[in-house]
Amino acid sequence: MWHASVFTLFPEMFPGPLGLSLAGKALREGRWGLEAIDIRSFATDRHRSVDDTPFGGGAGMVMRPDVVDAAVGATVAAGDPARPLICLTPRGRLLDQALVREIAAGPGCILVCGRYEGVDQRVIEARGMREVSVGDYVLSGGEPAALVLLDACVRLLPGVMGAAASAEEESHGEAGLLEYPHYTRPAEWQGRRVPEVLVSGHHAAVARWRRAEAERITRERRPDLWAKHGSRRPEPAADAACGEVLRRPEPAADAACGTAANTRLPRAAGAA
Ligand code: SAH
Repeated sequence: MWHASVFTLFPEMFPGPLGLSLAGKALREGRWGLEAIDIRSFATDRHRSVDDTPFGGGAGMVMRPDVVDAAVGATVAAGDPARPLICLTPRGRLLDQALVREIAAGPGCILVCGRYEGVDQRVIEARGMREVSVGDYVLSGGEPAALVLLDACVRLLPGVMGAAASAEEESHGEAGLLEYPHYTRPAEWQGRRVPEVLVSGHHAAVARWRRAEAERITRERRPDLWAKHGSRRPEPAADAACGEVLRRPEPAADAACGTAANTRLPRAAGAA
């Protein structure tokens, strides 16, 4: 079973949101396992201290290497060294869907959550921890980052989400595009109609529209992803005609693929 061990000063933060909804159901069904281990229980001095002032001076406190090592050591020695040992830190490699897929495909993970200024660098090195960040901002602790990482992994585990986690179509999936926008009933709401093509019953046209929207949104919002997508993917023959048109910016050209009229609507909605 895919198993996560989380080292934290706040074990009561787990499973937290992961105890609800699909992840929580899967947890209760034993499709994945989670243990939160209190780092403080490995403190050895009278005051059960887990942190100390930084060498070199400066603000804040640093988590002690001996205490973190003792905590992690107990779990690593008891079990599977095959699980990646990850320290959550804003200085780490950015978490992306490729790393999520890699972790989800393995036997689980061991996560170390920092607090204060973070963890003494020597224990990170000595234990060979992978340093992972969930984004370019600073949280007050590694726990929300661990919850983010676990949520992203757990939804990919067999039987947790079913078909909803489509590896191909969803954002950051194999196509390397952001996903197209979604609509449901009512077909008209506050004077806004859903794009006509979606109610046309024409499956090929729907697929073309969604593909075109995914490309437009990726190009507009994430030029970085768009550039990667362009460099790694040859145009499939079936899409070629539509893809050709869409690369040109003129709305008249887009209309040929049935996008221009429809895209105005959701964009206006987004701006409101
Ligand atoms: N002084 C550090 C920030 C410490 S924030 C620095 O400037 O780099 C305290 C703890 O929160 C960190 O040890 C880490 O475990 C967690 N944390 C904060 N931001 C994070 C992020 N973007 N990704 C992952 N963990 C983060």
